[in-house]
Amino acid sequence: MDPALAALGEFGLIGLIRRQAARRSPGTLLGIGDDAAVVAIPESGKLLMTTDMLLEGVHFQRRWARHRDLGRKALAVNVSDIAAMGGSPLYALLGLGIPSSGIALDELKALLSGMEEEAATHGITLVGGDTCRSQGALVLSVTLVGTSASGSVLVRSGAKPGDSLWVTGVLGGSAAGLLALEMGFRPGVTWPAGIDKPAWLHETEEAAIQTAMAAHLTPAARVQAGQALVGCATAMIDISDGVASDVGHLCRESQVSARVLADRIPIHPGATVMAQLTGRNALDLASRGGEDYELLFTATTDPNPLLAEAVPDLLATRIGDMSGGEPIARLVQANGVVEPLLGGFDHLRGAA
Ligand code: ADP
Ligand code: MG
Repeated sequence: MDPALAALGEFGLIGLIRRQAARRSPGTLLGIGDDAAVVAIPESGKLLMTTDMLLEGVHFQRRWARHRDLGRKALAVNVSDIAAMGGSPLYALLGLGIPSSGIALDELKALLSGMEEEAATHGITLVGGDTCRSQGALVLSVTLVGTSASGSVLVRSGAKPGDSLWVTGVLGGSAAGLLALEMGFRPGVTWPAGIDKPAWLHETEEAAIQTAMAAHLTPAARVQAGQALVGCATAMIDISDGVASDVGHLCRESQVSARVLADRIPIHPGATVMAQLTGRNALDLASRGGEDYELLFTATTDPNPLLAEAVPDLLATRIGDMSGGEPIARLVQANGVVEPLLGGFDHLRGAA
């Protein structure tokens, strides 16, 4: 244990978190410091609750992830779940497992300030948590409470035959960013030392790799887009496991089938570059990569006018359609061949 951290102790650290989370929303009646937090019930009368863990070695490597970014991401992945319901995030709780060796107080402070930055961006108040020593890995378990300002929420089960299927932004950036980090790229490091640079790779491609790493390390949850889509989507999910897997969730929950057109899937430019560099398939990175935290949704009308009002520069792309029949997803390849759309990562089974 870092001597500075040991000197501070559990309660000293909680005191530090308490001072850092001093910014409080009006609904926070009692924040960190008591046995439980007390918050006002939102006017809508609806609470959205979600939790997502980030585990060292499973979700991140401290070898390349800065602590500040880890703090941001641990909260952002939860914000994405609230966004996928069309909700607004309000209160967070942080379960912290601190490895008995290998984390310095300064790293922990950086992590907490990253989380506070992300919280401030969305007006979230950190109202409590738990702090324990972990035998091995750094554990970040965030619970997030939100509400639906409009009173309506977007669930996975609302898709109907005849609806069109849409996705916001571009896909595969996060998977490509992870490949780049594994290859030795880092934010600000445009080419890893000791590897020959191919002749086709120029500034544009280097920039695409940088944005892919940013998509992996500091994903941005689509809160405004999610809220805007309450006006037109019929079902929605955020893409955490990869569109291949997440479209399957929509199908099963809605009891409809999906046809996804391969050549309509919007591919992150970094995924195209990393696919070429590593001999992989860019479409595969975009459809099975996961962790893009874009929104996947069904609608009966073009969502782009509504989206453009809420988030300038964010486009939704129509990638397919929903029909009746067995609740499965199919991929229509550019050459017309139709295959089952399988994929994504299952924590108990591994990669598909
Ligand atoms: P108790 O033993 O009653 O559960 P704790 O000593 O665990 O209380 O926590 C004291 C206060 O500090 C509580 O308000 C708790 O929510 C808060 N807290 C503890 N750990 C964290 C953390 N990692 N992040 C935010 N708040 C925390
Ligand atoms: Mg406790």
